[in-house]
Amino acid sequence: MDLKNLPPAMVSQLASMVESYISDGRSKYAPQAVALTDAQRAAMSAFFSSGVLDSARLCVLRGTRVQNPSMYAMAKMMGVSNLPDFAGMIAITFVDVIVSHQEFSDALLFHELVHVAQYAQMDLKEFASRFVHGFIQGGSYQEVPLEKMAHVLESRFSQNSTQVFSVDDEVRQWCEAQKR
Ligand SMILES: [Zn+2]
Repeated sequence: MDLKNLPPAMVSQLASMVESYISDGRSKYAPQAVALTDAQRAAMSAFFSSGVLDSARLCVLRGTRVQNPSMYAMAKMMGVSNLPDFAGMIAITFVDVIVSHQEFSDALLFHELVHVAQYAQMDLKEFASRFVHGFIQGGSYQEVPLEKMAHVLESRFSQNSTQVFSVDDEVRQWCEAQKR
């Protein structure tokens, strides 16, 4: 089934399901998540605003994994394939709560903090809607523009962490360009 043919009502329903998945994940993991360590903060401070660094909470799961959305069973029955496998991902960011299946490297932390910065500049509803539309247009998780942005910025950081830039500015410019 070609996702691009989904009726708009179904697309907005998907977006609201994604929104619930994110807010449920945030509530579930927030109690066990902790602030960045001083060393993590020092490594990130040239790139992220203190607002992002102050609000972010980290949680490393051991012996358990994030569950995929319960709507997947229905989506699969509808013939939708290649849904993003959250359970198989290295880490997932639920607004400001970053849940990881492995210890945080600087590159991983950077990538997920880009998502925290994205959420900070758009509300959850808009994030979920952009995510779903990006997925439908691109056909895969990797093609979702929010995800591509995080990859591009993470590679800039990984290639040369002395070449500083403001992630907030990058996200803001990107949002403005989308509106044009
Ligand atoms: Zn990502």
